[in-house]
Amino acid sequence: MTTQMTRIDPTEELLSTLKGADSVLLFGHIAPDGDALGSVLALALLLRDMGKKVEMGVDGIIPGQLMFLPSIGDFRMPGQLSADENTLAVAVDVGDLGRLGGHQEVFLSAGKKMVIDHHGTNTHFGDVNWVDGHAPASAVMIWRLMKALGHKMTKDQALCLYTGLSTDTGNFIYESVNDECFSMMAELMDAGLELAQYSRILFRQKRVNFVRLLSETLPTLRILGDGSVAGLSTAYEVFTKNNLPESETDGVVDYAIDLEGVVMAYYAHEKQSGDVKFSLRALPPYRVDKLAVQFGGGGHAQAAGCTLPGPVGEAVSRMEAAILQSKQEQDDQA
Ligand code: 5GP
Ligand code: MN
Repeated sequence: MTTQMTRIDPTEELLSTLKGADSVLLFGHIAPDGDALGSVLALALLLRDMGKKVEMGVDGIIPGQLMFLPSIGDFRMPGQLSADENTLAVAVDVGDLGRLGGHQEVFLSAGKKMVIDHHGTNTHFGDVNWVDGHAPASAVMIWRLMKALGHKMTKDQALCLYTGLSTDTGNFIYESVNDECFSMMAELMDAGLELAQYSRILFRQKRVNFVRLLSETLPTLRILGDGSVAGLSTAYEVFTKNNLPESETDGVVDYAIDLEGVVMAYYAHEKQSGDVKFSLRALPPYRVDKLAVQFGGGGHAQAAGCTLPGPVGEAVSRMEAAILQSKQEQDDQA
């Protein structure tokens, strides 16, 4: 697939708003992933190079395997940031206001609000909104932004952008992958990206406790209907027992969607609050974004998420019924 036809570039309004700001607050989404953190950091480093005062906020635990990201220690938790009428607040990789978690209030209190995101379900909650639902990662949009501003990329920025791009494309294998990803990668390598070292950390290295969690989760496998829907679930006690934060679930859902014959899958994990977080996946032409929205969540056509009230068994039953119905509707429309 080529990108030139579908790609949405930053507007002059967005560029001049960024150039004109002196004090900027950047936010990624709650329970941040590689794209949220990498994109915010790359933009922060860029804006700092431009001489601006930049602070960053994120709500939730930063995954241990992403601690190598430059300036990762600069992220502030809810309650640690403030904004006034001179502040530009930018939400990056954040599909809706609720996904800011505890940073919503400070975002809303900024004089100017901007949204930069690649989720098709984005609600355009800023004064200036740049949403490109076809961009494979928010990191791709930040890379376009750097080029539009005529910025020469540093090695640290390349590492942040690589982390966003590679994690949101499942290490360059999702449907969203296009020629632009590889043009960008060529420039990241040119800027000094140490690909082998960081791809190993991101995609091969596993914590022993994570493998233990996996070994307790795989027996929960459910195969539904004609074998085209699969699901996995983890109770909260499995996280505590294995001394893992409830955020360390990346990749578990792949064991369901990667099964031969499966086209739609869920992974449910119980949170400390008792709510149940669902990761939803589909293989094209099937999609799960509308299913996620139905439960107050969102995301992309083939990767989305939402949260349901517990207990786990009830949440899973509701989700299974909804997935099967959604699959049936999609089959009927095909
Ligand atoms: P994951 O299953 O990996 O947590 O999320 C898959 C995709 O769906 C990501 O792009 C993520 O940002 C999005 N997503 C996950 N949960 C939610 C949610 O509750 N609300 C919204 N709007 N997006 C979500
Ligand atoms: Mn993303």
